[in-house]
Amino acid sequence: MSRLTDISWEDFERLGLEAKKPYLERFEGDGMPYHTLFAQQFDRALLMRLCALANRIRFINKSKEGALYLKNVLAHKRAMLYFSQPSSRTFLSHLAACQLLGITTGSVRDAATSSEFKGESREDSIRTFSSYFDMIIMRSPEQGLAEKMAWELSNSERPVPILNAGSGKDQHPTQALLDIYTLVRSFERKGGIDGRTVTFCGDLKRGRTVRSLSYLLTDFRDVKQVFVAPPELQVPDDVTAILREKGVRYEISDDLRAATRASDAVYMTRIQDEWDNAKGESARIDTSRFKFGAEELELLGPDSIIMHPLPRRDEIATCCDHDPRAMYWRQMRNGMWIRAALIASTFGFEREIMDCGY
Ligand code: ASP
Repeated sequence: MSRLTDISWEDFERLGLEAKKPYLERFEGDGMPYHTLFAQQFDRALLMRLCALANRIRFINKSKEGALYLKNVLAHKRAMLYFSQPSSRTFLSHLAACQLLGITTGSVRDAATSSEFKGESREDSIRTFSSYFDMIIMRSPEQGLAEKMAWELSNSERPVPILNAGSGKDQHPTQALLDIYTLVRSFERKGGIDGRTVTFCGDLKRGRTVRSLSYLLTDFRDVKQVFVAPPELQVPDDVTAILREKGVRYEISDDLRAATRASDAVYMTRIQDEWDNAKGESARIDTSRFKFGAEELELLGPDSIIMHPLPRRDEIATCCDHDPRAMYWRQMRNGMWIRAALIASTFGFEREIMDCGY
């Protein structure tokens, strides 16, 4: 068993994601992550376990007795939501997931209101949070910060778990979990995810949800990935390198309509202009052909779906919203269920919930 206490931060930081994985698992050896930092920690078996648990929690919560049972499961735990980057859905769905399980929460949403403003290091801030809380759910504009904090905590007297709720342009593992859960649910009576074609469209260069989901899709058999974007915003090489290494079929394209015709799922994303190097840089890119509207809807197959991690701007026309193939609203609610499943599993309550009498 590898432990974060057995390795220096410098040596850990140098490892590839696959090699980092065992250091982040729960000590119980059930394969579940303790610190959830990147999508590469989840293989197909783990994804299926989490989807089954999310289904179970969703079902149990339907009755008052069931909801009260769930509220008791983690009533002895507290979680800190530390979000130093804007968020609506990820913040609220983690909060709602904690509430479902009876976890008491606290939050910092703006470093300017914490002692970081007085010059406290993030390491010290995190240690402070860990004195009062049993889990830290964190979002940061900084790539790699969640990893560093996980290492710091594991090497402290209060080694509480970290959940990465979005790190820079890099990863958004819990969004990818909810995206997979949405795909699983959408295709559950239609033969599952294997063999499907998934198109990503929009800002694929800076969209962290794309990197995380693209990886998780490699856990399924024969899923083709199509990347539709203007050349300036096309998918980065590190993402396609993984696909080549794993022998996954993919295509780079600038034709959303052709891709829509051939896709089982179209995953739209917004332009991530908060990462522009110069003001107005993104606005100069012609994105007019990378929007999903009435004409694209016409081309979409009857069983295919439209997804979006949200927030949306104008990349999906509102006329699509009431189409049964528009999955983005349900996708959002799925986030609450799968995050509840992940949090319960992190604390070791997967079996108990699966086997409870509700
Ligand atoms: N909500 C997603 C994220 O935090 C997508 C986005 O912001 O465009 O990455």
